Amino acid sequence: MADVMDKLVSLCKRKGFVFQSSEIYGGLNGCWDYGPLGVELLRNIKDSWWRAMTFREDVEGLDSSILMHARVWEASGHVAGFTDPMVEDKKTNERYRLDQLLEENGIDVNGMGIEAMIEAAHQSDLKSPKGNELSEARQFNLMFKTFVGPLEDESAKIFLRPETAQGIFVNYLNVQSSMRQKLPFGIAQVGKAFRNEITTKNFLFRTREFEQMEMQYFVQPGTQDKYFDYWRRERWEWCKSIGLPENKLSWHEHKGDELAHYASAAFDIQYEFPFGPGEIEGIHNRSNFDLSQHEEFSGKKLKYFDEENREKYVPYVIETSIGASRTTMACLVNAYHEEKVKGETRVVMRFHPRIAPMKAAILPLVKRDGMPDLARKVTEDLRRYFRVVYDDGGAIGRRYRRMDEVGTPFCITIDSESLENQTVTVRQRDTMDQQRVPIEGLRSHIDDNTEAWTVSP
Ligand code: ATP
Repeated sequence: MADVMDKLVSLCKRKGFVFQSSEIYGGLNGCWDYGPLGVELLRNIKDSWWRAMTFREDVEGLDSSILMHARVWEASGHVAGFTDPMVEDKKTNERYRLDQLLEENGIDVNGMGIEAMIEAAHQSDLKSPKGNELSEARQFNLMFKTFVGPLEDESAKIFLRPETAQGIFVNYLNVQSSMRQKLPFGIAQVGKAFRNEITTKNFLFRTREFEQMEMQYFVQPGTQDKYFDYWRRERWEWCKSIGLPENKLSWHEHKGDELAHYASAAFDIQYEFPFGPGEIEGIHNRSNFDLSQHEEFSGKKLKYFDEENREKYVPYVIETSIGASRTTMACLVNAYHEEKVKGETRVVMRFHPRIAPMKAAILPLVKRDGMPDLARKVTEDLRRYFRVVYDDGGAIGRRYRRMDEVGTPFCITIDSESLENQTVTVRQRDTMDQQRVPIEGLRSHIDDNTEAWTVSP
């Protein structure tokens, strides 16, 4: 397991997917920088989500600010309750999440509250990973604090948002009235969120700064179960559409104390990571908790006027909340393959073409006889529609391997025949099959094969 992760992290750095943040200063824990290919992959995932969410009549987009009024987080329950149980190694003072330590020691914390976890820790005589005594558990609030304006006192204290959802809630009536939306309708937002996680590990899986893609769907009370089921199905299909195979995905239902303070039902979509199943998305029935809280704390009416039934009420909310960075990590892990080809190891990143950083590479077979000129022309033509790359450096086999390693699904080779009859070969990354295609048909060849792409398990 460690082996695959080490190889992936090293490939990500070598090929320009992900770099450690502030690396030349020794790095900053829990923060990562997306390099030229990583940023394309992340952007493609976000774009695919944005299209799935907002290219429909009942969902509007939003980009709210990261800094919000401090009262927002009192109303949402984050000031009081956005905590993880923390314990400290009495010798080294290193801090750990109690639930994670218990899990690592084979104790299932599913459904346990903090009291039950403390009891389980006592019962099993839990020690720190270094074998030392642990302190009593205490709740640690995960929100980053800062000050707004020049005075650094309590009245100026604000938080970096730990989720994008609250920006949606406080704007729900603005969006509804400006867009003349009727229930049910949703608001989608993609943006940064910050959590001062007690421990960060597993590369992009748990970081202190990350991106979320959230959609809150506002519904008439009494219809929430129907829409909860609807969005669970939609989200599962979307995860498959970006190339995550069904046999690596699973559902996890939150029960008892595991349910967040706002939720009355919650299911996670998990991906089978090398270190075990991990949540990538949560689908929550948040009832009318958030809007009712904001009504109370702001003193502003947030009721919806239902013209058809001539009544006013606070809508219920179904939330879909997925980490863009964590999904990127799932796609990276899922793509990584090593295979033997003619006695050599081929490393191939099997991204679905929908999200691959580079859609195609254009390769003149040799650097003479007009092939580079034609290849440049094909590159410029395709660049109008796709992110493509031109490469004429080295033997063709080496160039194919370079493209495999960064997951480019189509390699277009310009050879002497291309100059005669305006056709090229297109090599498919996973099968390595080659097909002769007319230059003028390249765009639709790429589009059609992207749509028809089958995900190998
Ligand atoms: P976890 O239990 O893993 O901490 P969570 O249940 O607190 O996650 P939510 O609050 O439901 O997560 O957030 C929604 C999504 O945001 C998660 O499914 C995940 O993809 C992403 N996410 C949450 N915390 C982090 C983090 N620290 N780093 C990267 N992504 C995160």
